[in-house]
Amino acid sequence: MELEELYQSIILEHSRRPRNKGPLEGATHTAVGNNPACGDEIAVQVRLGPTGIVEAAQFTGQGCAISQAAASLFTIKLKGKTQEEACKLIRQFIEMVKGLPEEEDRSGKPSGEMLFGDLAAFAGVRKFPQRVKCATLAPNAFYEIFAGHRSENA
Ligand code: ZN
Repeated sequence: MELEELYQSIILEHSRRPRNKGPLEGATHTAVGNNPACGDEIAVQVRLGPTGIVEAAQFTGQGCAISQAAASLFTIKLKGKTQEEACKLIRQFIEMVKGLPEEEDRSGKPSGEMLFGDLAAFAGVRKFPQRVKCATLAPNAFYEIFAGHRSENA
């Protein structure tokens, strides 16, 4: 299987069967993201533990396959992370998705591929600038939560 097909299958799988979708019981923080150009509307919720660790992350809302898959994957990736770790992961993900021009990374793997695991599936989105907002919608909403509340538990 080509790497690109594998990546597409990860995104499709998560958009068809999103993980952690639905209201989060005991949520401590909520943020919303809208992408009117595509019609994506997502709300993300996290429950932070007393030490600031992400105990749970969930999302609700609707949108295209890419926005749903990104939300689904991030609910998995963020669980168990500190807010600092979460912010860092999201920043790196967004950098990856916005990416370098295609010709500059054709020679090698997208940077951070090992670090991201399934999230690396979104590296291909950089070739479709109009979809970058879809991929970054949920991560940006999560980032808003973590960046905004980081100092509370620092
Ligand atoms: Zn979209």
